[in-house]
Amino acid sequence: MSRIAYVDGVYRPHGDAAVHIEDRGYQFADGIYEVIAVRGGKLIDEALHLARLRRSLAELRIEGAIADAPLKVVLREVIRRNGVVNGIVYLQITRGIAPRDHAFPKAARPVVVVTARRSRPANPKVAEEGIGVITIPDIRWQRCDIKTISLIGNVLGKQQAREAGAYEAWMVDGDGHVTEGTSTNAWIVTGDNLVVTRAAENAILNGVTRQALIAIIRREGYQFAERPFTVAEAKAAREAFLTSTTSDVTPVVAIDGQPVANGVPGLLTQTLRADYLVHVAE
Ligand code: PMP
Repeated sequence: MSRIAYVDGVYRPHGDAAVHIEDRGYQFADGIYEVIAVRGGKLIDEALHLARLRRSLAELRIEGAIADAPLKVVLREVIRRNGVVNGIVYLQITRGIAPRDHAFPKAARPVVVVTARRSRPANPKVAEEGIGVITIPDIRWQRCDIKTISLIGNVLGKQQAREAGAYEAWMVDGDGHVTEGTSTNAWIVTGDNLVVTRAAENAILNGVTRQALIAIIRREGYQFAERPFTVAEAKAAREAFLTSTTSDVTPVVAIDGQPVANGVPGLLTQTLRADYLVHVAE
């Protein structure tokens, strides 16, 4: 099946799909995006993703974008045309096309791009054995709560992780506290079984997986705190893990090459992963 992309109102062959050179997404990274998992043909936590999308648009003051109802039709149509049963749908909305000038254009209209792709079968080793992260300074801006396509800090961080042979880089703020991963949220479990993740303020993206997992944690009655934690606290933790749409709940077993506890996935992490996968299957 050949791939099809939705670009500004038109379904096109993926290879020919293009945006204008004066699209503000291309010139200024002036836009937002979402990545939604597709499992068994269904969109996972679609309502949470669309709520975050609206929030991102509002924070960037991008007005007149496609409404939820037609957007949901487009998402399903792109998934259908690409024959995606398990994979992801990517959705991007930029402020539109206009002669290059930093200030908002008067006449531009938001441009919507939607693509979908099947995911490769997950490497079972990742969940079974866990992964390593490195820690790096968080060099990003002060509104990481907005899911903007301006991702250069995240790109550089992920590349640093790759070059270090790590799965992810946990970024660290000026106070020595972990903010989040370059495309994932960061979590630890302390020695007294307290699950800790940073509160969703401006320094992190409020992950949809994070939100779904917090609801599970509250429902199951695990001890939980939303607060910052230092790199030292993470290295001394009983367990660590990360969350995202494409990583689900993934155990972190090494930080900067040092094993977390005995270097194997934690029990609570594995339970939370299983609970999360039940939520996805439901
Ligand atoms: N933080 C950042 C910086 C991200 O890019 C992502 C993935 N979009 C996440 C956290 C996890 O968010 P989600 O659970 O919604 O995929």
